[in-house]
Amino acid sequence: TIGMLAIDSKGNISGACTTSGLAYKMNGRVGDSPIIGAGLFVDNEIGGACATGLGELVMRTCGSFLVVELMRQGRTPQQACEEAARRITSKQAYKDIQVGFLAVNKQGQHGAYSIQPGFNFTLYQDKTNRVLEAGSFLK
Ligand code: ASP
Repeated sequence: TIGMLAIDSKGNISGACTTSGLAYKMNGRVGDSPIIGAGLFVDNEIGGACATGLGELVMRTCGSFLVVELMRQGRTPQQACEEAARRITSKQAYKDIQVGFLAVNKQGQHGAYSIQPGFNFTLYQDKTNRVLEAGSFLK
């Protein structure tokens, strides 16, 4: 998945999400990426979130919508991503599954969290690109 979140100089937030889906997927499978609220959700009053990994688990928890709603309730983007990942791992054996979330809020703070380590993302801020590793459960 390629998930993108952006905030402009006026504080407007936008997002995009695209994917090739899962390897060996069943013909006709629709993953989380094209489902608003699952693979991507933006509310310009609050922030935006996107997801990668096993889409079935993201859809089941309305993952990106959940991240934005948690930010609406006052969580930071990082806390919101962690809680959304925890929502999945609390219902599911997660040793061999990966789901990761990215989020940005209206203040321009970002968050990133994944179940497994090794989920890297790029942050472009102050005219600089940085490759960062998301926080994760199993690190
Ligand atoms: N989330 C995608 C899907 O389930 C897979 C991916 O992260 O590439 O279709």
